Amino acid sequence: MNDLNIIVNGVRAGSKATGCALCGATWGDHHEEILGEDLFFCCDICAAEFRNMIEKALQNTPINKIDELRINGNYRDGRHVVINNEKNSLSFYVKFGPGAAIEEFRMEK
Ligand SMILES: [Zn+2]
Repeated sequence: MNDLNIIVNGVRAGSKATGCALCGATWGDHHEEILGEDLFFCCDICAAEFRNMIEKALQNTPINKIDELRINGNYRDGRHVVINNEKNSLSFYVKFGPGAAIEEFRMEK
């Protein structure tokens, strides 16, 4: 059972059946436990990007539980992300560079 709802470009993601938790791709077979969930990723780069993104986003916020994660965008344009739980909402923009490093990050709204 997944407590964490991940939506990538409008489509449910995060398992082998639904697609990579970061980019939505259904090829590959990489699993990592992040946020207490067994998440599916197409490759280890997406997994590393996802991990870096969550770490960065939660660094300076009181949010410690995520119910929903909405990711919109892609590698080229960067991604607009919204994190929701019953109490809080956090919006940010993130763009990755080579080696899953965060190239650009800013809080939104
Ligand atoms: Zn991916």
